Amino acid sequence: MQPESLIAQLQITANAFVAITKELELNKVLQSIADSARLVANSKYAALGIVNEQGVITSFITSGLSKEEREAIGDLPRGHGMLGILIKEGRPLRVHDISKDPRRHGFPPNHPMMTSLLGVPVSIQGNIVGDLYLTDKIGKPEFDDEDEWWLNLFARQAAIAIVNARLYNETRQAQLQAQTLAELTGSLNQFTQPLELFQQISKATCRLLDLPSAAVFLLDEKADRFPLQTGIGLRNNNPEDVFLPINGSIAGQVLLKGAPIAVPDLSQLAELFVPYLGSGQLPHSALVVPIKQYGKINGVIEAYSNTSRNFTISEIALLEAFAANATLALEKAQLFEQKEEFLSMTAHDLRAPLTAIKMSIGLLSASLPENFPPLLLQLVGNISRNSQRLDNLLEDLLDLNRLEHGNVQLKLAHLEVGEIIASVVSTLTPLFEEKSQKLIFIPSEQKYRLLADQRRMEQILVNLLVNANKYSPEGGKVEISLEQGKEGRVNIKISDDGPGIPFEEQGMIFNRFYRRPVHEQGTKISGSGMGLPITRNLVELHGGKIWVESEPGQGSTFFVQLPLESPNLP
Ligand code: ADP
Repeated sequence: MQPESLIAQLQITANAFVAITKELELNKVLQSIADSARLVANSKYAALGIVNEQGVITSFITSGLSKEEREAIGDLPRGHGMLGILIKEGRPLRVHDISKDPRRHGFPPNHPMMTSLLGVPVSIQGNIVGDLYLTDKIGKPEFDDEDEWWLNLFARQAAIAIVNARLYNETRQAQLQAQTLAELTGSLNQFTQPLELFQQISKATCRLLDLPSAAVFLLDEKADRFPLQTGIGLRNNNPEDVFLPINGSIAGQVLLKGAPIAVPDLSQLAELFVPYLGSGQLPHSALVVPIKQYGKINGVIEAYSNTSRNFTISEIALLEAFAANATLALEKAQLFEQKEEFLSMTAHDLRAPLTAIKMSIGLLSASLPENFPPLLLQLVGNISRNSQRLDNLLEDLLDLNRLEHGNVQLKLAHLEVGEIIASVVSTLTPLFEEKSQKLIFIPSEQKYRLLADQRRMEQILVNLLVNANKYSPEGGKVEISLEQGKEGRVNIKISDDGPGIPFEEQGMIFNRFYRRPVHEQGTKISGSGMGLPITRNLVELHGGKIWVESEPGQGSTFFVQLPLESPNLP
């Protein structure tokens, strides 16, 4: 080679090196390799085939063909002809005229005619990642030794660029997956009912692996099967009808193996039981990971694909990690359920002896002799008051449970809001007087009629007024008034000049058992944190809304907005 042409060739090759390392996105890198390769050995066409670890071509990129010609060729060559030789033998190949070469497998229809060929393997550290071949040397009848030398040099650099791009893509994908995993794990925390949680787990599994269907099965050891809990994209989602037998399902094998199992082609394992998809067909591939609780497998998450899918190691690890997080959420939901059950059972069980105590103490109080010692009288009074308090607490607990489970029926009647407020205010006035507080009802000229449950409406008002009384200092003022709300609604407003509630806690006080820190409320005020949740549930059961506006040190105003029964009457 002449020095001038050597320098020119070096320049071309160096430019090609720069071009293929400019991009990081795999498809762009591959296209850039095919385009640059043509310049390196001056050819009309170039093609780059990428193979997976099994030597199967997974991408095929061409350069120099028109869009129509490329489309006419089709997707991936099978690598039976000369392409196959390059991949399998891993050594360069030069052909004077491919159309006449006995080793050729034949061009696909609509393939442009090609004559000379130069192909080199693309390999790194002895591993073949693909092959690169050029066809139709420009200006000469065929490729020569020098072309082969330069293309080989370029192919080595191309292999590095491919590996880099793959690593970059894998890292980016892992980052995205970690993000999705965190997001989906977070989404599980809001569910306290196991069934809703299973639904979310199935949905999240589909999103995580970009699949149409997934399901959760829990182990029933006595019945030797995994009954369905819930699934997405299944033909039959009825837990009663769908189960996986331990003997004869992938879930059963996962139980034995203690590790995930991926099945790329389920038709090869016809004897294994899998549920039908929504399309009425059986899934083509499946990935099954165990749900481990306290070190023991007690269920599985199954992910199904309706097409052939080779689950990668990182996908399997991803679903495994998600299953571990889902297990924690499941444990939380199960504990929550147990706590609910325990609370309502305990409340029920305490009721009977408490009623007996209350009755006995009532009888005792009524039949005490006149000369009963004052100290003992005080003790009887204590028992009587505290058993009543305990009874109220149990009643609240049961009431809240019933409300939260939708087990409360309203006894609806035609009511006028002003009248109910007036009656509650008159009942509670002595309570306010005990703390030298003023309870002021500002009546409205307008009548606001509701279809509501009288006892429950009174309960709403009593809860809010008793709180205003409890949390406001001696000598404070509490006002209750009415105003027309928007769209046929009425607002009941209860304002106090108590300690107020910081903005960040204004939503939380309506949650069950939430109480503001004692030290911030001034004095130690007893309570159970059930009053406002009960109130909120009752307001919502009446089709209304409740909220608070407040600033620390500026008092609080609670609003109860309720729908009116009909247009206001004068
Ligand atoms: P309890 O009064 O039994 O603690 P509630 O559910 O009725 O339970 O109230 C929850 C919390 O909201 C109370 O602990 C208190 O911190 C706060 N709160 C309720 N009403 C008021 C009010 N009028 N002023 C200031 N804080 C209030």
